[in-house]
Amino acid sequence: MNINLLTEVEVESLNRLIDEANHIAIHTHRSPDGDAIGSTLGMANYLKQRGKEDVKVIVPDMFPNFLQWLPGTMDILRHDKKKEEAEAATRNADLLLCLDFNDASRTAELEPLITESTAHKVLIDHHLNPTVDADISVSHPEACSTCELVFRLIWQLGGFEEMDKDVAVPIYCGMMTDTGGFTYNSNRPEIFFIISQLLTKGINKDKIYRNVFNNYSLWRLRLMGYVMYTKLNVFAEYHAAYFTLTRRDMKHFHFMKGDAEGLVNMPLQIKGMKLSISLREDTEKPDTIWVSLRSVDDFPCNKMAEKYFNGGGHLNASGGHLNCTMDEAEMLVNKAIREFRW
Ligand code: 5GP
Ligand code: MN
Repeated sequence: MNINLLTEVEVESLNRLIDEANHIAIHTHRSPDGDAIGSTLGMANYLKQRGKEDVKVIVPDMFPNFLQWLPGTMDILRHDKKKEEAEAATRNADLLLCLDFNDASRTAELEPLITESTAHKVLIDHHLNPTVDADISVSHPEACSTCELVFRLIWQLGGFEEMDKDVAVPIYCGMMTDTGGFTYNSNRPEIFFIISQLLTKGINKDKIYRNVFNNYSLWRLRLMGYVMYTKLNVFAEYHAAYFTLTRRDMKHFHFMKGDAEGLVNMPLQIKGMKLSISLREDTEKPDTIWVSLRSVDDFPCNKMAEKYFNGGGHLNASGGHLNCTMDEAEMLVNKAIREFRW
């Protein structure tokens, strides 16, 4: 199967950029998920294997606990914790890799440093309409994940034979998380070709699944039960549902970052459901509400996120935010659900 992404000229340019770089900084989006962490670590570990000595992964803020076990997380620079080090690494870099985001604003406070950097830039991403000004842009919205793209690039650059588990495991992990364990957005044969190749590297995919999806705290499980039992509003005739998560709820259930992960998918388990929305209050900023949307089939939740929630994303998985009270947010959700009748 041909899984190459680049033209011969692009391969040459990318190889040259990597060979000539002395300091490489790899960036990803705020609230990094499995694909963000998997793709940056997979790429960093590949580059180190290739002999690059100074490769730094920089993330805007905390990533979920269920990703901590991935190889290389100890060296990740969190901008919210190690501001100076993260900024120095970005300023000092002669090659910036932008992974799993289409717009620099997704990196929060790192945005100006990335936009103003004069380093060479390579974008590797699967979101629509990239705006990052890059020397090489590997933008494929049809890909299941940025990890898929990272694999295909390493493959095309001839790095597969030497690939070890430190590269294979994070890549598999991100492909798995961005497709809900290969249950959505994962019908393309390339994906399973890549998985079969990764398995030859000795990865334990069943264990990776358990590490990520069966790694809840008791409190997270209780929170899930509570939300589904008491907080879910179902609009059967609109095939839509939403729930809210307030700071009070979070306090009650000893909320840790990442505990909300996946909750928004659950209402889609109801027969006939097409859209699920979660409204989650920010843990610190009182008037910020994070919105997550998930849909099935051709329901365009990215259109809804753009129109109502200052966001965007993929057809079936989008996000955004609101600056208002929860009551106001709920009114808006009601309006959006009525407008996007599917
Ligand atoms: P989540 O619900 O996991 O936060 O986000 C789901 C998807 O929506 C992510 O893959 C991300 O690409 C996209 N997304 C989340 N927030 C935003 C946003 O503010 N703007 C855009 N354009 N996309 C977003
Ligand atoms: Mn992704």
